[in-house]
Amino acid sequence: RTWVQCGTSMKVLNALKKHNYEKPTPIQAQAIPAIMSGRDLIGIAKTGSGKTIAFLLPMFRHILDQRPLEEGEGPNAVIMTPTRELALQITKECKKFSKPLGLRVVCVYGGTGISEQIAELKRGAEIIVCTPGRMIDMLGANSEKKRVIEALVSTCVLVRAAQVMRIVENVRPDRQTVMFSATFPRAMEALARRILSKPMEVQV
Ligand code: AMP
Repeated sequence: RTWVQCGTSMKVLNALKKHNYEKPTPIQAQAIPAIMSGRDLIGIAKTGSGKTIAFLLPMFRHILDQRPLEEGEGPNAVIMTPTRELALQITKECKKFSKPLGLRVVCVYGGTGISEQIAELKRGAEIIVCTPGRMIDMLGANSEKKRVIEALVSTCVLVRAAQVMRIVENVRPDRQTVMFSATFPRAMEALARRILSKPMEVQV
């Protein structure tokens, strides 16, 4: 498959070229069309397989298909991941595309001051990349934001399952949920059953 066959827009295509992403990796070729079709998805793919772009590209399309956020609204999408390192890594990958697309991404993680992160969210962002612990603190500290997240978030990407239930249960029920993990142990199956709706499974 080519990027164009994956339903990629010109702006995204230009960013992909700029960063020398010549063609989709196997997980991208399988997952991108499935996620773009609106289905929930479980992706089982090792680190280095290109899973980040596999969920980012459909997410950008999904956001750009919606009306622009008004002042103080947002986010449209939440990417939850267990560690700060992963959150920062995903944010870096996201920014390669979000800048040319005119989308704002905020990374919310623990071990650093919460007030600057709250201020950033208040300024408005289409995409949040977060670790669950800090996100829970953030929702507690900011009831306005909690309301917004409950209402607006419709894409929810989970990179490995952690203490995600408390957050996901607050997100609107018609959300699209995508879950990526290197492995899919039994413990994760139960979680997946609760938060995903008729997921398609893709494994590379
Ligand atoms: P990930 O599995 O998402 O952690 O990605 C692993 C690495 O592969 C990252 O450094 C990406 O920048 C890179 N990458 C992702 N997709 C592609 C692609 N289609 N072509 C070349 N490199 C890629």
